[in-house]
Amino acid sequence: MEFDTPMFKMCVKQLETIAAKLEFDPQVIERLKLPKRAVIVTIPTRMDDGSVRVFAGYRVQHSLTAGPGKGGLRYHPDVNLGEVSALAMIMSWKCGLMDLPFGGAKGGVRCNPKELSIGELERMTRRFVQEIILVIGPHIDVMAPDVGTNEQVMAWIMDTYSMIVGHTATEIVTGKPVAIRGTRGRREATGRGVVYCIEEAAKEINLPLGKASVVIQGFGNVGSVVAKELHRRGCKIIAVADTSGGIYNAQGLDPADIKNYIMEHSLLEGYSNGDEISNEELLTLPCDILVPAAIELQITERNAAKLQCKILAEAANHPTSLEGDKILKQRDGIFLIPDILCNAGGVIVSYFEWVQDVQRYFWTAEEVDRQLQLIIKRAFHHVVKLSRDRKEDMRTAALMLGIERVATEKHIRGLYP
Ligand code: GLU
Repeated sequence: MEFDTPMFKMCVKQLETIAAKLEFDPQVIERLKLPKRAVIVTIPTRMDDGSVRVFAGYRVQHSLTAGPGKGGLRYHPDVNLGEVSALAMIMSWKCGLMDLPFGGAKGGVRCNPKELSIGELERMTRRFVQEIILVIGPHIDVMAPDVGTNEQVMAWIMDTYSMIVGHTATEIVTGKPVAIRGTRGRREATGRGVVYCIEEAAKEINLPLGKASVVIQGFGNVGSVVAKELHRRGCKIIAVADTSGGIYNAQGLDPADIKNYIMEHSLLEGYSNGDEISNEELLTLPCDILVPAAIELQITERNAAKLQCKILAEAANHPTSLEGDKILKQRDGIFLIPDILCNAGGVIVSYFEWVQDVQRYFWTAEEVDRQLQLIIKRAFHHVVKLSRDRKEDMRTAALMLGIERVATEKHIRGLYP
């Protein structure tokens, strides 16, 4: 099967396990094991030296039952059809859990954005939009930033789509700059959502947040905001890492200083206010709160038994493998905030952005934050309650709620024709 990569198989297996607990219509579940639509395109791009390189691009719509497809676009050297399809499925469960009127989708281009010039990135992005134009639209599929993409990439997407359809269509994409009708608060939304979940989790386990020690893997748009917000709440950020490795300082690190360093040097490498540490060592450091905020499959059978945190806040998508998860389930004393709950702040505020663009009516930053807190905290407590009532772990409870929401809509609508 075209989609069969380890990551995709893992997500199908997860769906099967959860579906068995839900006792849901098996035909609906069968349908949800595969994406509704997957588009593969090739993207010829003029490079700065005049040569042409052809990149592979994907857009996968797992389910469009609840509304337009929603999900990020990632630029990364490891992007492939199976991974993008798995991430699209995860978006379905995430939108279901948050009760957003969106289906799940994801896109990706296999490239290393760090090696491309700004002009090359722009030409590649615009040509990608042209290649997938038939399957996107404000009521079909709405992209957003993900690993390796940012506000500028979203601006190019919006502009290219608008030029092609002949009118400005701000609602084609979320995570745009505020100046072109993005929403206030989208850039910080995923990180803030993570922190709201951590606050609730800390209350659950009586952990005084002001004294907590924190380890963060990944210092991009999500990790850096989590670091800043937790630091502001008095937590001690004892270690952070990016792809170039990590830095540890038991006295605490200053997130603003690290951010400045990364802005200047593009990577953490060479930052000297602490000791060098590998990504592997970082994940198993003793700490109160561990935040994997990079990419998938970081917590596996290799290190799950060695984690030494009280709260595991999954800010990345699918940072824990199924084997890693099995080990975590057998362990006491780790409060897990699963990815589809923990990092949903991004897509929640994307929903607000889409609503504002469709209505041409824009909210204040306070309103965005108030509504974000409302939705994510409500979902957090639903998950905690189901987990208690059904004696299931937090991940199982979150997936049960997300999958059930999507499956119910499919079931009620019925099969066409
Ligand atoms: N890429 C983010 C995610 O994985 C955001 C998606 C969106 O805002 O549509 O949830």
